Amino acid sequence: MISVGVFIKALALVCIVFVFVFIVYMRYKRIKHEIQIAGEAKIQEMRHEFSSNVTHELKTPLQTITGYAELIAMNALEPEEMRAAALKIREEAFCMNDMIDDIVCISDLNECTKNIVMEEFNLYEIAENVVSSLRHEADKNGVELILEGTPLVIYGSKRLVEMLIDNLCDNGIKYNKPGGKVRITVGDGGVTVRDDGKGIPKEEQERIFEMFYRIDKSRSRELGGNGLGLCLVKLIARRHDAELIFDSEEGKGTTVRVIFKKQNN
Ligand code: ADP
Repeated sequence: MISVGVFIKALALVCIVFVFVFIVYMRYKRIKHEIQIAGEAKIQEMRHEFSSNVTHELKTPLQTITGYAELIAMNALEPEEMRAAALKIREEAFCMNDMIDDIVCISDLNECTKNIVMEEFNLYEIAENVVSSLRHEADKNGVELILEGTPLVIYGSKRLVEMLIDNLCDNGIKYNKPGGKVRITVGDGGVTVRDDGKGIPKEEQERIFEMFYRIDKSRSRELGGNGLGLCLVKLIARRHDAELIFDSEEGKGTTVRVIFKKQNN
């Protein structure tokens, strides 16, 4: 038989344990709720930042297009100025189109459920395609494009990997100087793009992979940049489970290495 004293003590202990569990549970619920609210606020803030960035980025070329269209409508341009105006309108329209394509691509890459065609292909051949498509741009800037390395079969999306290499080489050309070099090396499980251009200051290096982030906004726009290139590079590398190694020194140049994990040789 249990004595009344022991029974009361046991009951008190059960009550204490119950109250303790109840307090812990309530605290857990409160913390979970706070995290949820903080998460929602963060998502809301990111959405807001995204839409104000997109609006701003699209408004700039639209203002130029509207301005030139108005001048044409008012017959305010000399015949020889008309061609330059039409070319400017076309250039701005192309920029807007590229930006929309990049935004759609970023959104697809962020959506993990979106199916991407993956296949085996030769990374060296893709680098060759990029080099021949950028050759003219490089020549115009007085930058030498050098491709070296060996054939390397990887598994991934040809279209996305080409976009990745294209963005890295395009940056190497844009942020370079006449007489500069952009060297693309295929091998050791991946591709390396190295330039001897202006480099990126240490304090900026963390942010350059963010959407729309540019060190010198007006210079980048002048050069045809939209601040989405490195964000695409980061997301494409992530989608391929590839390692992205970045190294840059102001005044010396930038090296980006992408190592693909799923390769056959
Ligand atoms: P953008 O379209 O402006 O080139 P990116 O996302 O490709 O946008 O790059 C972000 C910023 O990082 C650029 O605006 C530029 O200032 C800097 N950057 C990127 N690559 C290089 C490079 N190879 N050398 C120097 N600066 C670079």
